[in-house]
Amino acid sequence: MVAVVGLVALWFLVVPVTAIWRCRKCGRLMLDKALREAAFCARCGAPRPRGRDRATLAIAVRPKARIAREVVDRVREILTEEKLADALPLGTTATATIVAEIESGTTIAFAHPTWRPGGVDLVGGLPPYPRRAPLETLPPDIVRVEVEAVELASGGMGSYFGFVGVFVSLLVSLTDGKIWDARASAAR
Ligand SMILES: [Zn+2]
Repeated sequence: MVAVVGLVALWFLVVPVTAIWRCRKCGRLMLDKALREAAFCARCGAPRPRGRDRATLAIAVRPKARIAREVVDRVREILTEEKLADALPLGTTATATIVAEIESGTTIAFAHPTWRPGGVDLVGGLPPYPRRAPLETLPPDIVRVEVEAVELASGGMGSYFGFVGVFVSLLVSLTDGKIWDARASAAR
């Protein structure tokens, strides 16, 4: 008995309370073991809430990107219809930046240049959007959008993304009016 109590006490000493969280979508109790598990549910892939309010979402266009006005308007409509803000972690401040139109026939592995092609398949998705196989090729009229859902505006030393939160790369289909593929990574 004493040993059990001792073990439980030890566990609480070793594991900080902030490393345990419950997924709001599926109810799974999560223990941070890796960066991804600190940011996404291992069962359903939903992002960990970072506050109580729905994420705020601004939509911008990357400076110097040559994208027609109609395309920008259509992407805005699709992101709204697809309820992107609801898929992002609660309590974050998010910006979706329309980056580029991508040539059809490109494979998924080469369509998310944030990661090297061989690494794209290791990057998790963002439910409820599709996460396709790396060798699947893109149909025409796909636009890439980068989303920064920011919990803290500055990252730590050597921070790759420059903020703490979740980074998402989206391929948006203008033809289907849908988010066609999504990859999401913890940022810090
Ligand atoms: Zn879950």
